[in-house]
Amino acid sequence: MGKSCLNCGSEFDGRLNQKFCDAKCKNQFHNLRNREKESVLIQLNKVLHKNWSVLNNMYQVYRSKPINMNILEANGFNSKYHTHTFNSPIGEKYTMIYDLGYKSHFDNQIQIVQADV
Ligand SMILES: [Zn+2]
Repeated sequence: MGKSCLNCGSEFDGRLNQKFCDAKCKNQFHNLRNREKESVLIQLNKVLHKNWSVLNNMYQVYRSKPINMNILEANGFNSKYHTHTFNSPIGEKYTMIYDLGYKSHFDNQIQIVQADV
């Protein structure tokens, strides 16, 4: 029973679990898939870096004074993306982008903080 190669689609006879007609096709397939995965990472890193840079600029000006999230978003901040969250010992939750983060308040107000690294 012939099988078709996952990379080039050509028919071949092979072991039951064989997915590619030859090693070249197998490498090509995995290289392409890795490039696609890496381009997703590159895009995510761009968004995170932009977020960090907006947060950093705002922190230079406002320090930890309350500021409206709309101002950050107007500068290209995308609040869907962050690196991690941090819970302070007194139960405050911070959304972090690397070493910078913010605490959310009502009315879309936030306070920016810088973590000790
Ligand atoms: Zn092939």
